[in-house]
Amino acid sequence: MAMSKDNNMIRVRGANTHNLKDVSLDIPRDQLVVFTGVSGSGKSSLAFGTLYAEAQRRYLDSVSPYARRLFNQMSVPEVDSIDGLPPAVALQQQRGGSSTRSSVGSVTTLSNLLRMLFSRAGDYPKNQSIIYAEGFSPNTPQGACEKCHGLGSVFEVTEKTMVPDDSLTIRERAVASWPLAWQGQNQRDILVSMGYNVDIPWRELPKKQRDWILFTDETPSAPVYPGLSPEQTVKAIARNQPPDYMGTFIGAKAYVFKTFSTTQSALMKKRVSQYMISATCPLCHGKRLKKESLSVTFEGKDIAEISRLPMLALAEIFGKHSKTPAGKTQTEKNIIRQRISSDIYARIQVMLDLGLGYLNLERSTPTLSPGELQRLRLATQVHSNLFGVVYVLDEPSAGLHPADTRALLHILDKLKAAGNSIFVVEHELEVIRHADWIVDVGPEAGENGGHILYSGPLKGFNKIKGSHTSAFLFQNKKPADHTLRNPNGMLSLRGASRHNLKNVDADFPLGVVTCVTGISGSGKSSLVSQVLVELLAASLGQKTDPEIDNQNDAPVDEILPISGSITSGLEKISRLVVVDQRPIGRTPRSNLATYTGLFDHVRSRFANTPLAKKRKYDAGRFSFNVAKGRCPHCQGEGFVMVELLFLPSVYTPCPTCGGTRYQKETLEVTYKGKNISEVLQMTVEEACNFFDEDPQIYRALDILREVGLGYLRLGQAATELSGGEAQRIKLATELQKSQKGSSVYVLDEPTTGLHPSDVERLLVQLNTLADAGNTIILVEHDMQVIAQSDWIIDIGPGAGDQGGKIVFTGTPEDLAKHPSSKTAPFLKDYLR
Ligand code: ADP
Ligand code: ADP
Ligand code: ZN
Ligand code: ZN
Repeated sequence: MAMSKDNNMIRVRGANTHNLKDVSLDIPRDQLVVFTGVSGSGKSSLAFGTLYAEAQRRYLDSVSPYARRLFNQMSVPEVDSIDGLPPAVALQQQRGGSSTRSSVGSVTTLSNLLRMLFSRAGDYPKNQSIIYAEGFSPNTPQGACEKCHGLGSVFEVTEKTMVPDDSLTIRERAVASWPLAWQGQNQRDILVSMGYNVDIPWRELPKKQRDWILFTDETPSAPVYPGLSPEQTVKAIARNQPPDYMGTFIGAKAYVFKTFSTTQSALMKKRVSQYMISATCPLCHGKRLKKESLSVTFEGKDIAEISRLPMLALAEIFGKHSKTPAGKTQTEKNIIRQRISSDIYARIQVMLDLGLGYLNLERSTPTLSPGELQRLRLATQVHSNLFGVVYVLDEPSAGLHPADTRALLHILDKLKAAGNSIFVVEHELEVIRHADWIVDVGPEAGENGGHILYSGPLKGFNKIKGSHTSAFLFQNKKPADHTLRNPNGMLSLRGASRHNLKNVDADFPLGVVTCVTGISGSGKSSLVSQVLVELLAASLGQKTDPEIDNQNDAPVDEILPISGSITSGLEKISRLVVVDQRPIGRTPRSNLATYTGLFDHVRSRFANTPLAKKRKYDAGRFSFNVAKGRCPHCQGEGFVMVELLFLPSVYTPCPTCGGTRYQKETLEVTYKGKNISEVLQMTVEEACNFFDEDPQIYRALDILREVGLGYLRLGQAATELSGGEAQRIKLATELQKSQKGSSVYVLDEPTTGLHPSDVERLLVQLNTLADAGNTIILVEHDMQVIAQSDWIIDIGPGAGDQGGKIVFTGTPEDLAKHPSSKTAPFLKDYLR
């Protein structure tokens, strides 16, 4: 490869990160550089793992050890040298959403500007003195509502939560939130002494009595005669019989709150919290701010109301105010108003360009898709006035309708024009065509990749043989002929409501591949991945999310009631499978072999060898998750963590087992000449040859190879797999199971992270499942996939409030002919 001495080049020498094969290349600065190659070829290892990681390492060397700890530090890249590398900013997608909770307004800094605007140029009521900008933030003591402390919601208890079954009597524990055992009986006995009837159903007590028992703050004392019946108690009190003791009553609500806030016992806290629900704060009505702060308005709206408008609407308001009003005298307030408005307007404009106009400032970031979040951060960068840096982006087109991809390119061009270098890992052909420079990594994935096939401008790339990317860019292959399948039934959804979907009816044909299309924010995921999945799971008695559950602290407002119903088709469905890109496990203890179930068979083969039998080693002996056979020092992990003060911890191979994970004795057992550790080291491809006479194991391996994962090692840890790899492993695991043809598969943007040649493989798999009679429902932008599906449901026409309706249903051919569809013009090229 030609090496230049050009000063405007970044010179990489001897990069070996992950699968990179000692590569050296020159990459121009101040250009749009796109890194391409099949999934797993090493694009990210080069762009993020090497270039960005090195830039970050140099930067961190220059800051204090304390500051260093605040960074999500990458591991040190394996590279001999990199010259000419500018500082880098990574806009990487965090798969599975971001973990820290912030809002669109804070990520974009628009909330700060709004606060300044309200403080300096808002309309104040008479006699209201000026409020500083902090006073408009619910996160400061100056701004936060006194009742809910700026949360917008408060915990409440209701009759319904505390008395779940009102046919019970008090004696039968109608008040479920009362303490258990003696304390609860004490409350009852006090009520008896006070003359309450504890032996009629709760609902037959007068409302006034029920309210008092539940909600009173009074704590009256009463004589207690445990063991006496109500009649006997009345008589005892009448004759002034001395009680066993005097008891103090506490209202049911007061008890719940007192226990919740004072108990030291987590169990008690949990017990009472089940009677509490979160309700909108009655003082601020969920607006989170003090009354005074909410009294200040702009365009007649308080700051909370402004934060709830979609950015599209904000653009209108601030567009108007950003112009200097003609003829008016320029008061200081007017000037400030105009200045800040035009700043806000300019920033919002970029977000509209990136197809994010449907978002409002209040929206919390964990509810955004990774693509939305990345574009939001990208939009924010355009106004950061940085120059001379490298922006490293991870598939910025993810989640974008092709109609919006142009706007994305426009933004990237803007950043470049400001004097920055833009590095993008991308599969979208339109983005690749727009690049000034292409770095193609390959030719295949994993071990068979990691070489630079091409580094240069688009012109010249067509001459490169053996590059999948070049083939797709220049051949303009027409897709294979596709015969439409006939549905064998209809899954009918009625009255679906969620986010911007209002009472939508949708019919999903069974036994075919359906694509749900529409621009970003139109409501595809709300319909398919939320309402449909939840209703179907509930009807089938399945849990939607066995792995993740509550680990990602779902925001309170995310627990939404199920609305809508399935009115037909259920009788033909036995199972719902959601195939997403989330990790197959969160620790290195789960890997490809364990997840697919393959390892169970492998272990039993080892247990069946003569030596194992002689030593009485069972299959458990060959598991690195069981103490019996694994290395005791690293507990079967194969490596140990070395903690370094102020630096990222490093992992080194375990000194005891040499990284093999097992005890010496376990490794003495071999199967066809290999020990268990050596088997885990094999790639899927190698293992296919090794186990070719063992149908049970071979079949599982062969499917993995077919979905394009032949390069992965059997022991490859779940934590080292990309989202696309995880998704394909899940699909392969499904394909292994015997097909009854009655499953529904739901995939939300399965092509994210996939090279067009990988998309072809994915389609083969999905078609296999559909041919077996299963139902495939996809949310997808990829024209290759849309063109090859049997049925399309297009949601729109716009995003947010302007979307949420079904605007088209029909075949891909019909959609391509549709006069007003945004998808039609792009789809035409992909149909025969
Ligand atoms: P791409 O970005 O082209 O999809 P990657 O650079 O993510 O590919 O991966 C290239 C290869 O490196 C793959 O075989 C992948 O499994 C492997 N890999 C990725 N991340 C790690 C890691 N943290 N440790 C070890 N191997 C990794
Ligand atoms: P798509 O999948 O077509 O991109 P979504 O279903 O994600 O669209 O979003 C549809 C609308 O619902 C958008 O206006 C979006 O802002 C809104 N929305 C999506 N998720 C949430 C959420 N968790 N909270 C509030 N609004 C949401
Ligand atoms: Zn409040
Ligand atoms: Zn060890």
